[in-house]
Formats: sequence, structure tokens, C-alpha cells
Amino acid sequence: MLLSFVSIFVVIFGLLVGSFLNVVIYRLKVKKTVVRGRSFCPHCQHTLRLIDLIPLFSFIFQKGRCRYCNKKISWQYPLVELVTATTFLLVFFKFPIANVYLSEGSEYGTLLAGYLVFTAVLIIIFTYDLKHYLIPDRIVLPATILALAFSWINPNVDWLPALIGSVMVGGFFALIIFLTKGKGMGWGDVKLGLFVGALLGWQVSLLALLIAFVSGSIVGVGLILAKKKGWKSQVPFGTFLTVATFICLLWGEEIVQWYVGMLELG
Ligand SMILES: [Zn+2]
Repeated sequence: MLLSFVSIFVVIFGLLVGSFLNVVIYRLKVKKTVVRGRSFCPHCQHTLRLIDLIPLFSFIFQKGRCRYCNKKISWQYPLVELVTATTFLLVFFKFPIANVYLSEGSEYGTLLAGYLVFTAVLIIIFTYDLKHYLIPDRIVLPATILALAFSWINPNVDWLPALIGSVMVGGFFALIIFLTKGKGMGWGDVKLGLFVGALLGWQVSLLALLIAFVSGSIVGVGLILAKKKGWKSQVPFGTFLTVATFICLLWGEEIVQWYVGMLELG
């Protein structure tokens, strides 16, 4: 009963945060401040009222169109809201809120808040890279510093593995750029690598890289076979790496242990 009540609260919270992330993603591109200014329709510039800003429901009731100019609203808006709600719910399952009261209160609360913030960062980078083929500096650089600082209180990743991971993954991508003369990756991926390594630590980072490269290759080949993309056009790697990072953030240790267990059985 309590769990389902908390779940509903988390979903509503996630939808609201997702709605905010859409604003961040939009304003990062047009270089506007996130803090001030009312939301408006990107087509007709009409200021949006509260009823237009209800996550998910405004989109559904207005059938995906702007109330004022009737132009289609991007599917990005409800999808980012849904993804944020879902991932937040997964984070809350991983770190039950009840533990905030059971274990050493504030430290656990900081841990939970940290995981939510990093999840939000990953969603922004995922969407932005998919949309613009760019990793936003203004998000990934502060997030890297935050991730390094977070390792001081994070019992799952110590500061040294975080530092090594950051240099390792960032350096690995820089090496790929050097070897492929900039065809395989961009400097945005290097910055994303610094962040991912700092967040996961070097051990779990390896798993994230593996998942990202394998899933990226599968989707890439699939798109070529479906003739959606040619060999030359790129699928943004950051989108795969952010998904892999989220998976590893929550279940990295378990996946590694499961894999090691499989090896021992074999
Ligand atoms: Zn409009």
C-alpha cells in the first residue's frame, strides 16, 4: 500500500522533472537561460498556460498539437517525460525511500538525490545527441566534476576508480579519434567518456563500453540493412553510451557478478 503510494508520487515527480528536462534541452540549443522566462510554443511563440504544461496529459488531450497554432508538437516531449518517470521509478526501486529513515538519514538521501540527478543528466545527453549529434558542454562538463565529487560519498564507486575511469574512458575515445583521424568519434564523445568513467568507476565503465559498442553495432547494421542510413552517415554513439551507462549505474555490479558466476560454472 505504502509502496504503491510512493510509486504514484515518484511517477508524477518524474513526469514533472521530464517536462523540465524538455525545457532544458530546448533552451540549450537556442542558448537561453533555463531559470527565467515562461514556456512558449516554438512555432507560434505563444506563451503557454498552466493547462498546456501538464506533462503527458496536455499532449494527449490536444492530440499532439499546439492549442494556439495547431502545429504538431514533437513526440520528444511526451517521450522524455515518460522515460524520466520510468527511470526515476527504477532508481527509487534500487534505493527505497524507506531506507532514508532506516539507515543514516542524510547520507542515504544525498545518495538517492545524486542518482536522480545523474539519471536526468543522462536523459538530457541522450536526447540532445540523438537530435543534434552533439554532446552539450554546459551539461557534461559540470556533470563530470559533480560525478568526481560524488564518488567521495558514493559507497558503490570509490574516488580512485572514478578518477581512473574518467581518464581511461575519455582517453580511450581520444585515442579512437587519433587513430581514425576523427571519423569514428567527436570530441563530445571524449567529454562524455570523462563523465561516464567518473560516474561508474573504471571497472563498470568497461561493461558500459561493451554494451554501448555491441548495441550500437547491432542498431547501426540494422539501419543500414533497412536502408535508413548509409555506411557514411553516423548513428550518434552518445545515445548508446548513455543508455548503457544508466543500465550499469543501476545493475552494473550485478551484471559483472552474474557474468563471473557464469564463467566459473563453465
Ligand atoms: Zn503554437
